[in-house]
Amino acid sequence: MHELHLAQDILRKIQEEARTKELRTKISYAKVQLGQARFTHLEELLELFADISGGIKLEIEVVPVKTACADCKTEFSPKTMRLDCEKCGSTNIQVVSGNELIIQELKA
Ligand SMILES: [Zn+2]
Repeated sequence: MHELHLAQDILRKIQEEARTKELRTKISYAKVQLGQARFTHLEELLELFADISGGIKLEIEVVPVKTACADCKTEFSPKTMRLDCEKCGSTNIQVVSGNELIIQELKA
């Protein structure tokens, strides 16, 4: 299941981050930047996370998917997501955001 896998990834990232910051007490709150391309059901993700995290309050800031033409640098939002550039016709399209999984804040 996609969302369960992601919930586990987030938890692992939080634990890694806690270790680098040498937070020895239990984490109670985490704020995470999450790219929209990584999940489909946010509610389901939050429920699954609550099940496995043992009481960490999770706040998610969703980063919208954005793609851009590598040739003329035009950026596209999800609604206009396409495989060729509407401006110059190039098929050299790159994903510029939407894949993030960044721990922004942790509280013990
Ligand atoms: Zn272009």
